[in-house]
Amino acid sequence: MNIRIFFALIIMSSALNSEENFGIVVHGGAGVMSGLSEESQQEIHKKIQETVSQAYSILEEGGSSIDAVELAVSILEDSPLFNAGRGSVYTSDEIQEMDASIMEGDNRLAGAVASVTTIKNPIKLARKVAEETKHILLVGDGAERFAREIGVEIVDREYFYHKERLERVLNSKNKISKLNNESDKIGTVGAVALDRNGNIAAATSTGGMTNKMPGRVGDSPIIGSGTWAQNGVCGVSSTGHGEYFIKYQVAREVCARIEYLNQTLENSAASIINELKELDASGGLIAIDHEGNIASPFNTKGMIRGSQTNKTNLKSDIY
Ligand code: ASP
Repeated sequence: MNIRIFFALIIMSSALNSEENFGIVVHGGAGVMSGLSEESQQEIHKKIQETVSQAYSILEEGGSSIDAVELAVSILEDSPLFNAGRGSVYTSDEIQEMDASIMEGDNRLAGAVASVTTIKNPIKLARKVAEETKHILLVGDGAERFAREIGVEIVDREYFYHKERLERVLNSKNKISKLNNESDKIGTVGAVALDRNGNIAAATSTGGMTNKMPGRVGDSPIIGSGTWAQNGVCGVSSTGHGEYFIKYQVAREVCARIEYLNQTLENSAASIINELKELDASGGLIAIDHEGNIASPFNTKGMIRGSQTNKTNLKSDIY
């Protein structure tokens, strides 16, 4: 075969491949999950599958990965089942302070908000920070003021109210504050997606950790820790003991090991989550690479997760 035709075929097949592969993975947090009744498990499966399927439709119709992850995370923020948006956990001041971030692998567009208390969907505000400001992270009053200025939906604090989570913070305040109480870490939400154009996006949203100090910010709004997206390599959303995920820059590290060490997505993601376990840092992550392969390792008893790609069917798991 003529050498030019041979190379043209290779280039065409790799272009076709990146156009063909697309998919989405979502998570609803990692933790012990021991108290989950059969009924709550069914409810969780239903919500995760509904989320994956709506976000997948965007990708299937040729939509962008950033639209898919924003939609997925906002659906989960609207559900009181998860520790993000409605249903977020409480600080020691009994207030729900929320953090979120979003990133797109093309041009590394990134935006985040932290310690917001009246934004209905923190992930939508994070995207506005990315697209409509010169900054990446806005916090507290400044973030809320920006939301009012651009018309992002604001709600009363009561909208986020969650009876059991408030009781949990009241109970845990009677004990010594334990940031690494496993059972308190269920429910952060995240999504990663690859679209038909090869763009990777990732998004994460959380209420943080029960009984956290007012003003405490975890890994979820930190680009490189809770969220990372890099075209041609991978996208990651983390969940777990945020302080460790910041110190070890977990989301970026997954992609860095692929980029520099030539590891597969699965090896890179699994080895980092194992290394965290050795440090006593619990959690997990979801990731997708530029070929649409997915990984969702965790070192806790469970991690709520679901996915669908052009190569794999819609599914959800908890344990
Ligand atoms: N990573 C989140 C935080 O530390 C909590 C979680 O994922 O459960 O704020």
